[in-house]
Amino acid sequence: MQTVLITGASRGIGAKTAELFARHGYRVIINYNNSRNDAEGLLSGIRKNGGEAEIIKADVSDSAEVNKMFSLITTEYGGVDILINNAGIAQTKLFTDITDDDWSRMISVNLSGAFYCCRSALPYMIRQHYGRIINISSIWGQVGGSCEVHYSAAKAGIIGLTKALAMEEGLSGITVNCIAPGVIKTDMTAQLSEDDFKELAAQTPTGTIGTPEDIARAALFLADKDSSYITGQVIGVNGGFTV
Ligand code: NAP
Repeated sequence: MQTVLITGASRGIGAKTAELFARHGYRVIINYNNSRNDAEGLLSGIRKNGGEAEIIKADVSDSAEVNKMFSLITTEYGGVDILINNAGIAQTKLFTDITDDDWSRMISVNLSGAFYCCRSALPYMIRQHYGRIINISSIWGQVGGSCEVHYSAAKAGIIGLTKALAMEEGLSGITVNCIAPGVIKTDMTAQLSEDDFKELAAQTPTGTIGTPEDIARAALFLADKDSSYITGQVIGVNGGFTV
């Protein structure tokens, strides 16, 4: 049974990804930071449906906590076959209002978190000459989002990390790819009104807003062992929305 670690899986895209992978026979490790109740609810739902899962609390922006999470995983399972760097935060602010703390929190969670997790996951993947790393970026990392400069910078950083690491690990049987979601209805976009969503849907070629399941299905595809010739790519899952 392959083991997948999904960071930030207590809610939103991560939670739906955990459910989908469990349904497809993966052992799912659900990482969470603050939302313990949500993580426990997700865990019991997966187990009730016959899936195999566990939860681990760790703040991905803290390398010591990430190291501790991986030492638990190493003891139990040896390592992870698939790493999905999904944990993220967003903030909307005028560029000139972004404080030092806003900037460093954004980069620490959204970019350093992926770095720490990749660094901890890779030795096992390299030893077994197999692995899948899937990083969740954003359309704003591709095109830039007004009033989200720190978020966009972190998500563009994820794209750079993905492409460079894919090159470095190409001969190691490890693929490294990135999903760039468009607008997806989760807690992260809860500040948008129904009218905002209607307007965004109207600007989207499919005429719809994305769901967490749309992202989960793309991750499942990239995680497959048969997706071995896809690496260093940024897969836009955005209904054709190009801003
Ligand atoms: P969400 O509903 O707000 O969920 C965010 C998740 O990240 C939660 O499970 C949260 O866990 C976790 N998290 C936040 N900080 C963390 C930390 N320091 N350590 C560990 N986990 C942490 O967001 P979402 O919409 O599902 O977003 C998931 C990913 O997709 C993010 O990377 C986001 O940037 C990206 N994305 C989303 C959209 C969108 O429109 N929704 C678009 C493009 C990209 P706790 O609650 O347990 O702390």
